Amino acid sequence: GVDFKGLLKRNWLLIATVISVLLGICLGVVVREYASLSHLDKQYFGFPGEILMRMLKLVILPLIISSMITGVAALDSEVSGKIGLRAVVYYFSTTIIAVILGIILVMTIKPGVSQTAEHIDRAGTTPNVTTVDTLLDLVRNMFPENLVQACFQQYKTKRKELEPPKAVTNTTTLPPLATTIMAAVENITKDYKIIGTYSDGINVLGLIVFCVAFGLVIGKMGEKGRILLEFFDALNEATMKLVQIIMCYMPVGILFLIAAKIIEVEDWEIFRKMGLYMVTVLSGLAIHAVICLPLIFFIIVRKNPYTFTLGMAQALVTALMISSSSATLPVTFRCAEENNRIDKRITRFVLPVGATINMDGTALYEAVAAIFIAQLNDYDLDVGQIVTISITATVASIGAAGVPNAGLVTMVIVLTAVGLPASDVTLIVAVDWLLDRFRTMINVLGDAYGAGIVQKLSKRELERMDLTSDVDVANP
Ligand code: ASP
Repeated sequence: GVDFKGLLKRNWLLIATVISVLLGICLGVVVREYASLSHLDKQYFGFPGEILMRMLKLVILPLIISSMITGVAALDSEVSGKIGLRAVVYYFSTTIIAVILGIILVMTIKPGVSQTAEHIDRAGTTPNVTTVDTLLDLVRNMFPENLVQACFQQYKTKRKELEPPKAVTNTTTLPPLATTIMAAVENITKDYKIIGTYSDGINVLGLIVFCVAFGLVIGKMGEKGRILLEFFDALNEATMKLVQIIMCYMPVGILFLIAAKIIEVEDWEIFRKMGLYMVTVLSGLAIHAVICLPLIFFIIVRKNPYTFTLGMAQALVTALMISSSSATLPVTFRCAEENNRIDKRITRFVLPVGATINMDGTALYEAVAAIFIAQLNDYDLDVGQIVTISITATVASIGAAGVPNAGLVTMVIVLTAVGLPASDVTLIVAVDWLLDRFRTMINVLGDAYGAGIVQKLSKRELERMDLTSDVDVANP
């Protein structure tokens, strides 16, 4: 028979989390129906959830630093280069696949080609960002001027606001990508704007670059470097212990997080109006998660991909609830290492970088949303523009930080690249809180599969290292 007790014991946290999601939904619906809460009451209601978010964010910094440094130092530079390259190839190819999938779906379903546009409120303002801005910011952030500052720098705007882009009519001929980029370069030389690459005040990308370099140096130092290596390894272990404690609080936090959200949402009607658009995004995400990624995983790893997904369940539910891949990172680590038994030398490397730059869900979403907006505007896209959308959607997903709604901000570069009004982002803002959750879930799943795949591809190097290394830092 089935060992229910064992199953329960091993998965109690996941079970508790799922139950708390369901309870949270019920609680939210009931309170919404029967109690009239003031704005302040609503805020109090979300308080336990807010505390969960704070705790998760709290451990991001020590976690990223300790895992990246030890991850890199434990590998010799030749091996880490190979692993890094494999990871990047994986990130890129899966992101492109997600984008193409999104484009195919949105061109087939055509959610924007109908009357829905009339009912949608077009008011509001949006940030102005361009492809080059995003790329330059990405590189800029890789090299923080100050290490301490990189740990708590606030999201800041350095460039003066641009003129709002003019609305596009059917008769305008569009500027080709080259012109758009030239115009953007001109803008940049004046001043610049830092966009989505900060995660809650942490310049994750900058820290990652620093930690990789630092880890490589420590790894090369031999005896002298050992003391640092051991320090960061202990820091990593201690942080993961903290994560374990935080996860016990997770069901409570999640219950109130979801209940508060349900109480807070003002316009449910919008879902009906935007129905087909949401169906397109969600089915794209589902196909990517259930078919594309598992297929790639199976071809390379030759193991059951769905068992792997199941192992990630806790991280996936967390991502769905908090819509931030960065804040989910501690949970992603635990699931990947404990349930899916991925080598720490791989996870320490692939997961933090993945959480920052590998966002399949976001890329798919950006492509679908951009073409949806084109359809709403009755605007025919040619092949060149569709290629432009795929490229900019990829860039926009890399540039987006792993924080809630980041994808919506970088969306603007996709729109401006093909000459659509950037202010049209406001058309899709109302449903973003929901789509954000699902795309974050796929972002996290993509990172996890990436760790599994890179581990398989690097099997030989890892085995060789096991034989040669005297101290096994990665697997104490
Ligand atoms: N919230 C997403 C994430 O953290 C980013 C996005 O807005 O698409 O992965």
